[in-house]
Amino acid sequence: MSEATLMMSSDAGAERVRPAGTPAVLLFARTFAEAHLYMDINPCECGESRFERDVEVLAQRDGVLPIRFAGDCERCGALREFTFQVPDRPGGPPAADSFSFPDDGPSGLIDPGQWWIAARTYGGIADTVAGGVDPERAWRDPEAWEDMVSILVNSAAAVDEALKFLPVGASAMPAGAFWTATGREVYQAVPDEFRRDILERERAERWARLREFTDTHPDPDEL
Ligand SMILES: [Zn+2]
Repeated sequence: MSEATLMMSSDAGAERVRPAGTPAVLLFARTFAEAHLYMDINPCECGESRFERDVEVLAQRDGVLPIRFAGDCERCGALREFTFQVPDRPGGPPAADSFSFPDDGPSGLIDPGQWWIAARTYGGIADTVAGGVDPERAWRDPEAWEDMVSILVNSAAAVDEALKFLPVGASAMPAGAFWTATGREVYQAVPDEFRRDILERERAERWARLREFTDTHPDPDEL
């Protein structure tokens, strides 16, 4: 995977010379949610990660969906293109925004440092959103409620994903678990945050925050 990314950034000619319909790089994502997060954290050269994600299902194979997302960068207009191979599992993941299936191993796309950054980012978004609304009114809107639940789920599930990299019985994340520059950077900056006890506490707190939210503000569609 790191080799593939490297190829994508260094081999600028690949796009032009490859035969039509043959993706330059095939990324293995466990779910669509994981594929979308990967695109979120791998921005365009201009720094923007948003682009109109037109979806194309390429030749369908047994048990695997090759999916291409392509569109123009929202800021500079450059073509953004990602091709993923996603397992085509019946019924889809347990929740629409799950990054993986419970029996999946760790991600091959996003390293534990990046999951930890994602968890903190989602948590920060939840704080900002919650701080800017009147809770008595805001969470009666089904769309706003669903968005908030999704952010809180992502914030907790991203810690679950980081924990998947911890070897059984290990009390801290091994340095070798990080393979991206961003992941290594956050590990070097705050190595203690990758201790098992810290990650497990974070996970528990984040799932508890979700439960507290849904207990205090029940699904408006079910009221
Ligand atoms: Zn751009």
